[in-house]
Amino acid sequence: MLAVNEAIQQMLAAIDPIAETETVHIADAVNRVLADSVTSTVDVPGYNNSAMDGYALRVADLQHTDTLQMVGESRAGHPFTGALNAGECIRIMTGAQVPESADTVVAQENTELGASANRIHICSPLKLGNNIRKQGEELKVGAVVYAHGSKLHPVDIGMLASLGIANISVRRQLTIAVFSTGDELVQPGQARRSDQLYDSNRFVIHAMLERCGYQVLNLGLIPDNKQEIADAFIQAAKQADAIVCSGGVSVGDADYTKQVIAELGAVGFWKVAMKPGKPFAFGKVDGAWFFGLPGNPVSATVTLQQLALPALQRLAGERELQPVVLGAIAGEALKKRPGRADFQRGIVRYENGENRVYSAGPQGSGMLSSLVHGNCLILLEQDRNHVAAGEAVQIQMLQTPIK
Ligand code: AMP
Ligand code: MG
Repeated sequence: MLAVNEAIQQMLAAIDPIAETETVHIADAVNRVLADSVTSTVDVPGYNNSAMDGYALRVADLQHTDTLQMVGESRAGHPFTGALNAGECIRIMTGAQVPESADTVVAQENTELGASANRIHICSPLKLGNNIRKQGEELKVGAVVYAHGSKLHPVDIGMLASLGIANISVRRQLTIAVFSTGDELVQPGQARRSDQLYDSNRFVIHAMLERCGYQVLNLGLIPDNKQEIADAFIQAAKQADAIVCSGGVSVGDADYTKQVIAELGAVGFWKVAMKPGKPFAFGKVDGAWFFGLPGNPVSATVTLQQLALPALQRLAGERELQPVVLGAIAGEALKKRPGRADFQRGIVRYENGENRVYSAGPQGSGMLSSLVHGNCLILLEQDRNHVAAGEAVQIQMLQTPIK
């Protein structure tokens, strides 16, 4: 059996990123992959501006007095065009430009209006530069903001906008064909015989790939028939960069996926040392990379996430990112046998100053409810045995927390 990391490394070594690029507007760029690095052509912020509503002044003046004469104002988008003289200040609003002649801002709550008109009394001590956001303090012209291969999330669209960038060069979007195989499967919404079950994998896989930013060709359900499977794969390879198919990769009599891929050009058919999972096919049909996932719904979902996605990310030209792993304490005993890496479904909670993780329920590889109830995967190393309550374990959150 192949270790999870070895399987990933073999796929990464085989796959070259797609080369084609296109230019898109940032409003359409969520989940797209930058073809080039992005360098700032502006300072951010672009001018010294006030972090507070208050008064802009020259801090040296406060050595002689605590009362200044207000001679004008600077509002966001409407700067003060004059210059401050000794003993003067201006009213200033958050985000408004600080004039060259001022060096410090006092927050309004630390001031009082004086007895006579436009006299401002400063009530608290100030240090030079207080409450001013300096030009370029976040980013200077020439700063590399993104490496090429960065995938753009909503916050990145905001960053690009703040740099004044409207259009960017991104890699062409991947098109991925998705199938299910299995004579026992029926479409949701249709009547079901007692020996049939609903095809759920195709819907999970479709949704996961779309969330990753790939275009999905949902090519339906194929019966366990060698010729039909072969025809479907060849047709799909004409339209897609990759094919993701579930079912038929184990060693049962009706598991034709393996045979078809072996004939059409398999690169690897593996028993991967993971649970859920194990059978996993990786290959190529004409120009399209092929990923054959096990049929059991949890296995299909977890192998897609853990094995196929890193490979698809490489194909899409995405920078390699290590998944975030967190530490947690097992809140209860967890069953585990040495030999395969477990991706158990868990529920992690922050309790008494630490992350404690509990089993999300029965762990059968067909039980999607464990993924429905769980909020994390508990990563139990290949060689590990049963876990006692109180032992340290690693977890991976099922949802990216922020982006
Ligand atoms: P297989 O890998 O084809 O041997 O399938 C393993 C198990 O997963 C069997 O119990 C199948 O009925 C089930 N299964 C296969 N494909 C799907 C699917 N698309 N949706 C739900 N269950 C499936
Ligand atoms: Mg099957």
